Amino acid sequence: MSVFLVCVALLVATGILAYHRASLTLFTAALAGVLLIGTFSDIVGFWSWLVFLIVALPLNIASVRQQHLTKPLLALYRKIMPEMSTTEKEAIDAGTTWWEGDLFRGNPDWHKMHNFPQPRLSAEEQAFLDGPVEELLAMTDDWHTTHERADLAPEVYQYLKDHGFFAMIIKKEYGGLEFSAYAQSCVLQKLTSKSMVLSSIVGVPNSLGPGELLQHYGTDEQKNYYLPRLAKGIDVPCFALTSPEAGSDAGAIPDVGIVCKGQWQGEEVLGLKLTWNKRYITLAPIATVLGLAFKLYDPDHLLSEEEDRGITCALIPADTPGVKIGRRHFPLNVPFQNGPTQGEEVFVPISYIIGGPEMAGQGWRMLVECLSVGRAITLPSNSTGGIKAAALSTGAYARIRRQFKLPVGKMEGVEEAMARIGGYAYMADASTSMSVGAIDLGEKPSVVSAITKYHMTERMRTAINDAMDVHGGKGICMGPNNYLARGYQGAPVAITVEGANILTRNMIIYGQGAIRCHPYVLAELQAAQLTDEGAAVTAFDKALFGHIGFAISNFFRTFWLSLTGGAFSHSPYNDDTARYYKQMNRFSAALALMSDVAMGTLGGDLKRRERISARLGDILSMLYITSSVLKRYQDEGRQVQDLPLVKWACEDNMAKAQLALTELFDNFPNRVIGIVLKRIVFPFGRTLRKPSDMLDHQVSRIMMTPCEARNRLGKHLYLTVEPGNQLGRVEQALLDVLAAEPLFDKVSKASGKRLPFFKLHEVADIGLELGVINKQEADKLRKAEDSRLFVINVDDFEPDYLAADKTLTQQPNGAEALKAESKKQTKTAAA
Ligand SMILES: Cc1cc2nc3c(=O)[nH]c(=O)nc-3n(C[C@H](O)[C@H](O)[C@H](O)COP(=O)(O)OP(=O)(O)OC[C@H]3O[C@@H](n4cnc5c(N)ncnc54)[C@H](O)[C@@H]3O)c2cc1C
Repeated sequence: MSVFLVCVALLVATGILAYHRASLTLFTAALAGVLLIGTFSDIVGFWSWLVFLIVALPLNIASVRQQHLTKPLLALYRKIMPEMSTTEKEAIDAGTTWWEGDLFRGNPDWHKMHNFPQPRLSAEEQAFLDGPVEELLAMTDDWHTTHERADLAPEVYQYLKDHGFFAMIIKKEYGGLEFSAYAQSCVLQKLTSKSMVLSSIVGVPNSLGPGELLQHYGTDEQKNYYLPRLAKGIDVPCFALTSPEAGSDAGAIPDVGIVCKGQWQGEEVLGLKLTWNKRYITLAPIATVLGLAFKLYDPDHLLSEEEDRGITCALIPADTPGVKIGRRHFPLNVPFQNGPTQGEEVFVPISYIIGGPEMAGQGWRMLVECLSVGRAITLPSNSTGGIKAAALSTGAYARIRRQFKLPVGKMEGVEEAMARIGGYAYMADASTSMSVGAIDLGEKPSVVSAITKYHMTERMRTAINDAMDVHGGKGICMGPNNYLARGYQGAPVAITVEGANILTRNMIIYGQGAIRCHPYVLAELQAAQLTDEGAAVTAFDKALFGHIGFAISNFFRTFWLSLTGGAFSHSPYNDDTARYYKQMNRFSAALALMSDVAMGTLGGDLKRRERISARLGDILSMLYITSSVLKRYQDEGRQVQDLPLVKWACEDNMAKAQLALTELFDNFPNRVIGIVLKRIVFPFGRTLRKPSDMLDHQVSRIMMTPCEARNRLGKHLYLTVEPGNQLGRVEQALLDVLAAEPLFDKVSKASGKRLPFFKLHEVADIGLELGVINKQEADKLRKAEDSRLFVINVDDFEPDYLAADKTLTQQPNGAEALKAESKKQTKTAAA
């Protein structure tokens, strides 16, 4: 019994120390203390001390440990170390690790998160949103753009150039706006709320493209020439990486540049002979300068001894002889400028390489570094703007549109779809703001940007589908008054570009996250690559034993937090949100444990086990998004009115994290490990639930009722009430209809009948006749009727209008022929 007590004491001491991540020295001292107490109590004897010393001494004496343990382990590690291609290595080296690193490591410090400053707009940025952005949106007609012209109107392009819309990232010294990432995000959200074409065309030059590449890597000469021209819109840029043969596997582009001498403006100069075939290039049809990625070869060693120099980026004026550019693709009825470009042995001087010849072969690194920033801005912001616009318009529509004598949004079935839109709108704004905020803090958060890109574009696709369902036929019939259909059509564009989503989820998020965020794995890899053996052993020793301590700690943390549901773990607030911090403490520890288990048991094979990697990435993503929701709640002053949205977002994410963990255990390649760990992580089964029906109901109510929480949900959208802005008009219609409802009730009561809620101008007349409302009130009812009809009506057209080829409308068409045939048959039958 006494021996049993010592064993329990040792285990408890180990558990407590591991939970708190104690150092090896403290561990050793504490365990020696327990043994000492046992010795004084005559329980522990010689043999226990002998075992303890045999284990503890070599571990604590660095030279012994390194010689007899670390060295052989390093040799073994080098044998089984996963191989990494240069492009993979460069992708992992690109960017920085931020808050996602804390979540990955199993013990997040919530005070640290809440201390990250809240992103804010400067006075100049706010003035830009209130001035030029509003003006631009007022002059943009989205139906004209998408259907009639398949392009922006010339005056819209001019306005974009004149007001620096293409130069939000360009520094002021070159004439750009030099906006924060947060300001860019707000501008893009606002543009999306009226026109996806506009936000795509503005987003691209401000994202990954010549402007960004030049600012970071250009020579002074290139910067001084191009940046002022890009800022003023004299040059329009595009960036061409994708080839027909290389989409997701962009490192495999077959496009080449051969270093050679050639004639340039009457002189022989050192240059490149470029051959390329690119497709899907945004802005290519109107670009004046083409950023081109290709593989550089130097067969005659004119630059260096190395022949195969690797991916390189150059800037080619589009009017260079031999450049083929100008044809258009047609991306899903959201016809922003996009098209192919080709060139066959096009000669340009070597100075066209971005950064000059010194940057030859640095193209992939340049691209992944810029992508680690750009991927967090354009697509997440466009998606966030889209989800928020869907939340407001669907809330208003569902309140105004009645069936079965009830606003459709009050029906339980509809509430389910509505709540998803509302919850996603809150979380999309939270995550996008937090991610762009990280960029403004100087981070290049490559894992965060992949998480934000993937999850916001996916949520946008779901939200727009839900919005379409709630709108019924109103969403389907296209025309100037349809404010949803283009978003619905264009959703797959955001899913596909800047890393198609299946690839992003299965390979990028966790593939980069595991190595970048883990506190020891990268250090182990780097140590194993050192050529100085002494330095390699010392570095590997530090990383390896740190790693072992980390893994033991994660095991005990996971065990305890799972057993207690995280109930005793730290939450910075003691209110309704406390349980979400605690659930995250629990899942964060489980993620850290499972990462080590997956890496330890699968090794380099983890790269190929994409679905294991995807689920680990899902857990990390859910933790990141949930933490951003709680940060938003805090940053906005803990507005209690927003709690249903906060709770919905947290519960949806935590249920998804729980599902990802369960599926991970159920599909873990080593079945014994999968089953044992499932018991440890879910000792009482899956206890978390997705948002309840009641929460769905509360979120739907916020979406349908003008209030502060709803205003916050729709911040940074274009809501101005003007004839061309359907979103602004729907918002106004909601106010008009709500203002009319009490008057309608008054007239109904006075008339002794339950009148239907339509033909409100007739209700106004009845009310005046009965003397229960005055003239102003009657006008309110009439205004509400006009607004109501605007909201529920859809466009219709003359039959000829919709044909793309108008010449065909001159010929007899199928419908006419059918009508004529039917008339003929009717006549014959009658005769
Ligand atoms: C409208 C539009 C605009 C674009 N703009 C530009 C631009 O300006 N410049 C530019 O260079 N490119 C641009 N692109 C290209 C874009 O980045 C590519 O379309 C994208 O990289 C995917 O390539 P792909 O379409 O050839 O699909 P594929 O690579 O053929 O992929 C097909 C599917 O397989 C999946 N997949 C591929 N590999 C893996 C893997 N290892 N694991 C799991 N899943 C995988 C992908 O996720 C995808 O679902 C644009 C594309 C479009 C459609």
